Amino acid sequence: MPQIQSFDLLLRNARLRGGQGLQDIAVRQGRIAAIGPALAGTAVVEEDAGGRLVLPGLVDTHIHLDKSCLLCRCRDAGGGLKGAIAAVSGLKRSFTVEDVYQRGARTLERAITQGTMHMRAHVELDPLVGLRSFEAMTRLKRDYAFAVDLSICVFPQEGMTHDPAVELLLIQALAEGADLLGGCPYTDADPSLQMERIFALAVAHDVDLDFHLDFDLDPSWSHLEEICRRTMAAGWQGRVAVGHATKLAAIDDAALARMIVLLAEAGVGVTALPATDLYLNGRDLKHRAPRGVAPLHLLAEGGVTVSVATNNVLNPFTPFGDGSLIRMGNLYANLMHLGPESFGDCLDMVSTGAARLMRIADYGIRVGGWADLIVLDADDEADAFGGIAVPLMGFKHGRKSFARPAATLLR
Ligand SMILES: [Zn+2]
Repeated sequence: MPQIQSFDLLLRNARLRGGQGLQDIAVRQGRIAAIGPALAGTAVVEEDAGGRLVLPGLVDTHIHLDKSCLLCRCRDAGGGLKGAIAAVSGLKRSFTVEDVYQRGARTLERAITQGTMHMRAHVELDPLVGLRSFEAMTRLKRDYAFAVDLSICVFPQEGMTHDPAVELLLIQALAEGADLLGGCPYTDADPSLQMERIFALAVAHDVDLDFHLDFDLDPSWSHLEEICRRTMAAGWQGRVAVGHATKLAAIDDAALARMIVLLAEAGVGVTALPATDLYLNGRDLKHRAPRGVAPLHLLAEGGVTVSVATNNVLNPFTPFGDGSLIRMGNLYANLMHLGPESFGDCLDMVSTGAARLMRIADYGIRVGGWADLIVLDADDEADAFGGIAVPLMGFKHGRKSFARPAATLLR
């Protein structure tokens, strides 16, 4: 007589992407042990997805928790990107560890209940804020590990090569647990030297890289080719990403085709931040403002790893945001004229594609993968993505990490 299997969790009646009938997902020791219709067995916890769509926990490759929720302190930047940097720079000296922690926690909790289970937090280091934001981030990483894997990317938002203290802060943060390094050459007095130093640090400390790059619509110059060249020279293919790259929305077809080949060859991933890219770009063109968002779907067709992410929430860079990655993917699809036939590809930009960009091991709903699961209030992919369905519950490594009851009408 076959032995009855016992599991830690049985999530019953899940609808999976591309799947036909309903499936049960069985979890043991944090990983998916079995997937199949009407699985036999017992479990410590049994939940019913009720035929709803179940996705792997979503992946936010680019968010600034340290400067989120600042609208009450500086409502109107008014000056586009430069104005936003200046507005936050003016506040940074007064940031305390507790303040950054509280604001970051508010945004992080919203993101968790919107289904995010992996996140790359970009954290500013400079003599103004020292290591205070970084320290708050390490505490958030520890305190919210039950629900989200937080990866900390430290970077010099306000330049690096003008002051040796900035590089020392980056090195100290790496010694104290930062997971990877970022750069922001366009704000540096010597962009090329910043890229050189950041790559040297990445190789010396064996960490991945994620740059803020090419954040305007001027096609006459770009740092992207230099990043690709340095990536190949360092042997860092697959370990480098860039965020924004909005110049890709402003160059002509032939130049874009060349860049796609180069990005794919160099293994450099690209992240679009549509909420910020739309809000800050093209202001001088008033009612004729272009979209100003990198055309990720074209990059993906050419073999480039791409993701859509949140960037800023409720601050002068982006006075919007509820932490929903499905909303970001939906916004991207909408502004790129992409319909239901492309919804799956856009969903990949906040899930499997984003996981590839962050090199997350064992991602996805398959036997042996981590049981990071969210149940969306929708019964298929198009409905979930087009309708920005809310997650009703999530399981991090098989343990229920949040619940968000569906709305109820009271007639
Ligand atoms: Zn950013």
